[in-house]
Amino acid sequence: MAVPLLDVSRQHTALKEECVRVFTEVFDSGRYILGSQVEAFESELAAYTGTAQAIGMSSGSDALIAALMALDVGPGDEVLCPVFTFFATGGAIARVGATPVWVDVRPDSFNIDLADAEAKISSRTKAIMPVHLFGQACDMECLLSLAGQYGLQVIEDAAQAIGARFQNRPVGSMGTIGAFSFYPTKNLGAFGDAGAVVTQDAEVAERLRRVRNHGMHPRYYHHEVGGNFRIDALQAALLRVKLPHLDAYHAARQRNAAYYLENLSGLELIGLPQTGDDMFHIWNQFTLTIGDGRRDAFRTYLQDKGIGTEIYYPVTLDQQKCFAGKGRGAETIRVSHELAGSVISIPIFPELTEAELTEVVGVIRDWQASL
Ligand SMILES: *Cc1c(COP(=O)(O)O)cnc(C)c1O
Repeated sequence: MAVPLLDVSRQHTALKEECVRVFTEVFDSGRYILGSQVEAFESELAAYTGTAQAIGMSSGSDALIAALMALDVGPGDEVLCPVFTFFATGGAIARVGATPVWVDVRPDSFNIDLADAEAKISSRTKAIMPVHLFGQACDMECLLSLAGQYGLQVIEDAAQAIGARFQNRPVGSMGTIGAFSFYPTKNLGAFGDAGAVVTQDAEVAERLRRVRNHGMHPRYYHHEVGGNFRIDALQAALLRVKLPHLDAYHAARQRNAAYYLENLSGLELIGLPQTGDDMFHIWNQFTLTIGDGRRDAFRTYLQDKGIGTEIYYPVTLDQQKCFAGKGRGAETIRVSHELAGSVISIPIFPELTEAELTEVVGVIRDWQASL
């Protein structure tokens, strides 16, 4: 039986009627950018994330760029950035002209290693961008205390982790700014590109709104150079259809994760993902580590049996061609480089059937037994 890594159509089919209804509403309204659908989505998102304000953005990548711009991070500034993440985290830092300082991750959580981060802080370090990777929060207690000690701004890259919590506090609500992505593969996926930032600070929120729209306020008066980071009304309207279901999606992913954790334990070469005590993990990805240099063989085996997988991520940021000779701190990266060679993500999406979960576990156990 083939099992796809992700099938968004199963989720969307159940919502089709409502989606078509809001599409018609937006169609008839004649308002396609910002406007009342966006404002309504922003207040619902702020409530969901426990923040004072949410500001819709054109993508998660743009949300990160806007966040850095709103905090005046630019040339001459350094930003601490884990190297085991999606490209956009480091890309945003480079895009605003700041210098990324490469930080390793921890082998247990795959999240930023704060000892390594602290060792690399200099007088130019202005911000830290923790990534809540695969849907699990970073240790924000230690991170916030480090940031406080060194006067760093905290931009949470919560692109993969909407709804995740650390000590019951929602991700995105703990730093100066939190950034979300609604790319279709994320737990809350749009029908195209979309993102958002959240903040507890009214002044920062105002700045973010201005940066989102070419630094303009009022109309055609530009205080600063921003960008076009605006979210579409249609995406906001469709996201409003899905947001009330998000907790149920998380619960289904958690159920799938629990099934894997129980049924894949005790296999010699299969490393299972670890969840910290204070974490409410929303499982954007379920990521194994395969020992003995056999990851690629494992992937081929699963592929031949029709099981979808993906490598998040095969190349760390410090090793990307575009960053050669740029950034600082690459010489101490160890764990991330190992992970890039050993991780593999397997299907975890909410609508997986019991038969599909059984199939995935069976194929993985067969692989281990075949060695
Ligand atoms: C998806 C993602 C982004 C970028 O989001 P887009 O909406 O695709 O631009 C940024 N950071 C991380 C960690 C992501 O996973």
